[in-house]
Amino acid sequence: LGRQVVFFAETDSTNQKAKLFGEERRENGTLVVAEHQTLGKGRRGRKWESPEGENIYMSLLLYPQIQTSSAPQLTLVMAMAVAKGIREVYGTDVGIKWPNDVVLSGKKICGILTEMSLEAEFISYVVIGVGLNVAQQEFPQEIRDKATSLLLETKKSVSRSELIAEVIRHFEDLYERFLIKENLSDLREEYNALLLNRGKEVRISTPKEEYTATGLGINDTGELLVRLEDGSERAIYAGEVSVRGL
Ligand code: ATP
Repeated sequence: LGRQVVFFAETDSTNQKAKLFGEERRENGTLVVAEHQTLGKGRRGRKWESPEGENIYMSLLLYPQIQTSSAPQLTLVMAMAVAKGIREVYGTDVGIKWPNDVVLSGKKICGILTEMSLEAEFISYVVIGVGLNVAQQEFPQEIRDKATSLLLETKKSVSRSELIAEVIRHFEDLYERFLIKENLSDLREEYNALLLNRGKEVRISTPKEEYTATGLGINDTGELLVRLEDGSERAIYAGEVSVRGL
């Protein structure tokens, strides 16, 4: 993976470009990297702040032959790869907020957005986008108290290309292991070791309800297992859910 790298000084969003490359059937593992996104995206149509020159915006194009229902789990695989890559390059402890945020000192440094295209009921391609705050020093008012960067927290400057290479290297290893069973059963323990919601109170909001529970860890398909106040357990699926509280 990452043998082909396509670089843009500016783009609408790297996921958008990677999806075009998917339509063109470009090589598996093609990596799109940009210095700046004008329309960086988060989940559910949210915006990803993407100022120029200091962060990593990248998207990986894949053609996995897996069930469509398994594809969202790739978000969790990438979150692990980012956390491990950062650990390697910075020697700092980062964790994951389920399902898709990488967190340092209680603040978000990375968001991941997985999108797929279907042909009949099969996956045509998958794109995994990563926005990683490397050296950003200022954040807009709305996210100032919940966003940070690796530079702000560690005071270390590293080469972005080295960090990208480490993340992709880890992803490649984790992805291979994921593909054997097409689920997270073999990666689950490693994911849970990085999971910050474990043993912590989480506030869960879906379009239908809002409640508090205790995070337990993920199951084999990447759902978050939680214990409710009445002692019962429930598995929550990432789709429509927001989890708050660390
Ligand atoms: P949340 O973390 O609020 O639950 P989410 O996981 O549903 O959000 P994501 O797709 O991960 O959504 O990210 C989008 C959200 O992340 C935005 O709504 C904004 O609050 C926040 N955000 C946007 N840009 C950045 C950034 N550069 N760094 C950190 N956080 C950001």
